[in-house]
Amino acid sequence: MKTKNIEAVISPGPTHFVGDGFKVHSYIPGRLSMQRMDPFIMMDYNSKFYFPPTDKPRGVGVHPHRGFETVTIAYKGKVAHHDSSGNSGVIGEGDVQWMTAASGILHKEYHEKNFAKAGGDFQMVQLWVNLPSKDKMSNPKYQEITNAMIGKYQLPNNGGAVEVIAGQYKDVKGAASTFTPVHLQNVKLNKGATADFSFPSNYNTALVVIEGSVMVNDSEIARANQFALFKNDGEEFKIVANEDSIVLVLSGEPINEPIAAYGPFVMNTQAELVQAFGDFENGKFGSLED
Ligand code: MN
Repeated sequence: MKTKNIEAVISPGPTHFVGDGFKVHSYIPGRLSMQRMDPFIMMDYNSKFYFPPTDKPRGVGVHPHRGFETVTIAYKGKVAHHDSSGNSGVIGEGDVQWMTAASGILHKEYHEKNFAKAGGDFQMVQLWVNLPSKDKMSNPKYQEITNAMIGKYQLPNNGGAVEVIAGQYKDVKGAASTFTPVHLQNVKLNKGATADFSFPSNYNTALVVIEGSVMVNDSEIARANQFALFKNDGEEFKIVANEDSIVLVLSGEPINEPIAAYGPFVMNTQAELVQAFGDFENGKFGSLED
């Protein structure tokens, strides 16, 4: 086994609002192409931001998706989801919402009512995980993954834990079901603790520092809100916490199919995108009240 080294440590760029409830840095696409982190074709990161109290919850109104999954990971604050398949839920700190849009849904994403009323710090990651061509038109589904459902690998010497959202870490299996091999792990390290990782060299792999700062492979420092991209060479890396830290580790087998993306639709061809718009215009994504 060979060491997997860092290709680049990327600092967060300017933020923009998605609706009025998500103030995000766009890491993918933006800093990286959709292809570079395939199957992770989009990553918006709402770094910690204080939203003042309001009686009208902020968020994003009804909009469609087709061809992929949206994965929302909550670190601070609470977000509510409703979709046209009849699924809804609220996720808070440590929880994950894994929504498979596949053939098409309408959904809306808002700050949870009581959180909005009280105001507070809000911090979330939203990933879009692509689906292979054969699964793009499968049925939508929704996995609400509370923190209690997430398997945790306890690091030695009270070093902290690796929460396995998807895939596998050592003997702990992920809570989410996925269409292609995807590893998604929340690594909670106490100061001085070490965690080691091993992924196939061809898997696109990165980490995002949510809190604190870590030393990667004894050579590079990644600080809060930075995104560290690994080379597609070597398998193993380790991180050491310079202070109490939370790190999101993502690694996935590239799907390696053509990507035709426009707005909320991610398909393989231009014709499929045209079809998606047509189906949306014709009400084939169902209905959902604003
Ligand atoms: Mn959405």
